[in-house]
Amino acid sequence: MRLAREETHDYPVRPMSSPPVLRDPPLATRDPEIARLVREEELREAHKLRLIPSENYVSRAVLEATGSVLTNKYSEGYPGRRYYEGQQIIDQVEELACARVKALFGAEHVNVQPYSGSPANLAVYLAFCQAGDPVLGLALPAGGHLTHGWNVSITGKYFKSFGYGVRPTDHRIDLDEVRRLAREHRPKIIWCGTTAYPRVLEFDKFREIADEVGAKLCADISHIAGLVVGGVHPSPIGIADVVTTTTHKTLRGPRGGMILCRAEYAKDIDRAVFPGLQGGPHNHTTAAIAVAAKEASEPEFKRYAERVVENARVLAECLLAEGFSLVTGGTDNHLILIDLTNRNVPGKVAARALDRAGIVCNYNSVPFDKRKPFDPSGIRLGTPAISSRGMGTDEMRRLAKWMSQVVSAPDDEALGARVAAEVRELCQNFPPPGIVI
Ligand SMILES: *Cc1c(COP(=O)(O)O)cnc(C)c1O
Repeated sequence: MRLAREETHDYPVRPMSSPPVLRDPPLATRDPEIARLVREEELREAHKLRLIPSENYVSRAVLEATGSVLTNKYSEGYPGRRYYEGQQIIDQVEELACARVKALFGAEHVNVQPYSGSPANLAVYLAFCQAGDPVLGLALPAGGHLTHGWNVSITGKYFKSFGYGVRPTDHRIDLDEVRRLAREHRPKIIWCGTTAYPRVLEFDKFREIADEVGAKLCADISHIAGLVVGGVHPSPIGIADVVTTTTHKTLRGPRGGMILCRAEYAKDIDRAVFPGLQGGPHNHTTAAIAVAAKEASEPEFKRYAERVVENARVLAECLLAEGFSLVTGGTDNHLILIDLTNRNVPGKVAARALDRAGIVCNYNSVPFDKRKPFDPSGIRLGTPAISSRGMGTDEMRRLAKWMSQVVSAPDDEALGARVAAEVRELCQNFPPPGIVI
């Protein structure tokens, strides 16, 4: 007869005379190499100022749900209509996730199964377009996403895509150009969404244009979903036909994607995600989305979203005072795009030097960039992650000073090391969620 104790995962299954072999050892024992790398990434995330605007820290609760046994279950289909048995629990998880997300955004319908932001967008094409149909989105160099029809993406290869840009004068989205291209090409979908745009998106103006040409308006709020929920950016719900988003950026959920839409499009969207594009949903991710949606509905999340925008505004002011040139002259949201042309440092050199100094951002093209995309003139940064660890405007002032020093002398290794040490000391006062130091 087996003892109940044998069912525990660390029970030695051989007699103690031979070396104990654990039936189901923890990661550190089973795979010390990966365990060490996970730990090193934890420390990197704890000790550096993470300014990549699409990144964040998830809570311990979100991490736990992501690392749960729900990863073991197949559940193709939707709650109550699955292609496998044994969905007693999973159906409840997905229903809870959907109910919470719908309440959070005030949406009529949501599909939480897309594997990430890019598949969510692909599903929208599948729902509303045939191959070769015209589509319109913000061009990549102006701050759009690959999946909005950029030429190297499947969305630029399988559809006839047109790209609008920003105005040369103020680098804001050129709505006159959106209207002109929409009238000329009659797109099936107009995308409104950005990855490197520091200003508010005017969903209502896009709606007018979409109505005029009979296009579906799709708002991709991947970057700003957390700001929308927190009430610091206008919501496209009720304006756009479809809203797509990642769940892991400002929203602070697991890596995933979602599609929110009006009830009238629910069937088309659901069919496009499954069986159109995907197989089994990632149920561990679905559970973590439910957790993140619960967290995002709490008052503390609103304060976080307000802090993200306030920190970005103050950081932008301080960077301007340090002599940096900012695309559009500042920011309304979580993101800042610096044009380094006047500092005579390419974006890549600046980004590398900053990383060595413990300040992590990414090099990025600026509008009408004279340099190549792989070696552009700018860097992109954002305040979501540092706001999640509770930093505020005092820290933004120090950050701007450090950035200016490092960018002024990107080859000065001693300076980089000194700043890295100061950054690390600051970080110790702001332990990030989800990481035990
Ligand atoms: C990040 C992002 C995506 C893609 O998300 P992935 O999860 O990386 O596939 C799509 N659209 C926009 C606007 C984004 O910012």
